[in-house]
Amino acid sequence: MTDTLRLAQLSTEALVALDRRHLWHPFTQAQTAPLPLPVASGRGASLFLTDGREIIDLISSWWVTLHGHAQPVIARAIAEQAERLEQVIFADFTHEPAVRLATRIAGLLPPGLDRVFFSDDGSTSVEVALKLAYQYWRNRCEPHRTRFLAFEGGYHGDTFGAMAAGQGSGFYQPFHDLLFPVTLLPFPATWLGDDQVAVKEAASLEALDRWLEHHGGDTAALIMEPLVQGAGGMRMCRPSFLQDMIPRLRRAGVLLIFDEVMTGFGRTGNLFACQRAGVVPDLICLSKGLTGGFLPLAATVCRDELYQAFLGGGFDRAFAHGHSFTANPLGCAAALASLDLLEAPETTARIKAIERRHRAWVQRLVDHPYLRRPRALGTIVAVDLDTEEIGYSAAIVPRLKAFFLDRGLLIRPLGPTIYLLPPLCVTDEQLEQAYHAIEEVAQALQTTDPPP
Ligand SMILES: *Cc1c(COP(=O)(O)O)cnc(C)c1O
Repeated sequence: MTDTLRLAQLSTEALVALDRRHLWHPFTQAQTAPLPLPVASGRGASLFLTDGREIIDLISSWWVTLHGHAQPVIARAIAEQAERLEQVIFADFTHEPAVRLATRIAGLLPPGLDRVFFSDDGSTSVEVALKLAYQYWRNRCEPHRTRFLAFEGGYHGDTFGAMAAGQGSGFYQPFHDLLFPVTLLPFPATWLGDDQVAVKEAASLEALDRWLEHHGGDTAALIMEPLVQGAGGMRMCRPSFLQDMIPRLRRAGVLLIFDEVMTGFGRTGNLFACQRAGVVPDLICLSKGLTGGFLPLAATVCRDELYQAFLGGGFDRAFAHGHSFTANPLGCAAALASLDLLEAPETTARIKAIERRHRAWVQRLVDHPYLRRPRALGTIVAVDLDTEEIGYSAAIVPRLKAFFLDRGLLIRPLGPTIYLLPPLCVTDEQLEQAYHAIEEVAQALQTTDPPP
């Protein structure tokens, strides 16, 4: 209470007015967007606004918050590290938090993935993976391997390489002409009660086979979000599809990059989606949940064989890439504390319990009159509004967000897809509240006129 007052030295109105005057928010059309909501503090799955309202964060604040907001163990780890060493240049120097974190990550990932390159966020972890894969082939004297494969609906971040790889998401119209070409494969999205999955998978594999037959020798790598495409609409595929892809890529010598920026750190039920799927990529991108959602930090982890290809007498073979805050000690300390929490037996049990609850709910939705394609994996659950039934248009999304906010819920639909990706500390009651609100919104859309 007093904390809130001390932090909120500006009135809510003044905060919002100054925000409007000076700030530029991401993915926002400021002219039509509602005023931003000023947040004073957070605890567990809850955010507390400066006007005293409580909002339950069911999307982990864009998929980063892992153990809840202002989690005290992580907060303390950051404070202690800040008093010892806040930052140091990471060329020619190293430090214990980075060494311990890299060792820890290597120990958690499947054997073979044990060389860690740190960067700042999901997009940079993807840039690093694409550049590593590209230069790897140059260093290996196969410079003609320049092409990349990705999936329709894939999203990999907003920097240029990540945008190129994520062209299938359809988010980048203004920049289209600047992006390097990437070949997109169809993604065999599936859901509960889908009887066409085998057909879709066969079509994807056939497209891959056709590409590899003609261009296998020119292709550097395939990048994908394993098991769940996040921003593309929480589209899920079966583990067996990934298992069927691997031998094809291996035969053609094409590297496999898993972008686990969203799926990493327990979201799919296992620590990493690659483990849930039973496949091992050549490179893996991690960020979002890495620090428990406290600080920006990312890691691109690869097989040691890739690292070896960058060794040599001259700098021309080295990886000429880095960021000012590479392996920031505060981020590493936060990540170590977050991993302690994540590996605790109670957290593993909680992840399983969330998945059971999600699955029980989607089971009930199989024959729902207005909700389509129910699907759940790990702590992620999603359904699509029946866009034909409700006369869907993009204009409906702000109405959906407002509907949920009115009920004290932060749920942010991706087009017609409504999903939950809650922090692991979410309670059963909070989940039930969210399920109920989603069923309620579907009902409400049915009984009110769709927007023109
Ligand atoms: C969010 C996301 C990114 C980009 O991460 P940023 O931290 O926003 O740069 C990349 N890949 C996937 C799969 C993501 O979900």
